[in-house]
Amino acid sequence: MGMDHSVYVGAYLKVPHAKQADDTVKHSCSANCGFRDIRSSMKFCPSCGAAVDARTSGATVLKPVSCYALPKEFDEKLWCPESCYGGKNAPASLWLSNTRGFGQSFSEHDGEQVRELNPDAMAAEMREFSVVFQPLVDWLKATHGVDATVHYGAISYWS
Ligand SMILES: [Zn+2]
Repeated sequence: MGMDHSVYVGAYLKVPHAKQADDTVKHSCSANCGFRDIRSSMKFCPSCGAAVDARTSGATVLKPVSCYALPKEFDEKLWCPESCYGGKNAPASLWLSNTRGFGQSFSEHDGEQVRELNPDAMAAEMREFSVVFQPLVDWLKATHGVDATVHYGAISYWS
């Protein structure tokens, strides 16, 4: 399987990662005997025989909001290249438009291309993008507590 390199130029949504409970389950000896190598398949501590505790830390972590679980009217209107999650410690992910009229993509297979960037057209695209996706921005705030913002730029990504 190959990877394609593309460049998106246009309006996009920057979606801050949301605070969520860390659901990573940690297993430990309930007697706290100090044995460290307890695996999820174990019911009892191999060292002292006490039951194994399985619990989440209760800590809050930042996680990317999935662009694949949106209200129906926005289904597949935006997408996020994996590289645009920006890694575990990134503060936000970038959602690019899949919708006609917003953005343009340059693929390595397209050959050399020049497309003029007109400031008025860029401003108009950002305004229109903001109007179309305002209900989504409101939904993200209400459901995930994040303040998504509209930007215009060039994003290079692998897919
Ligand atoms: Zn133990």
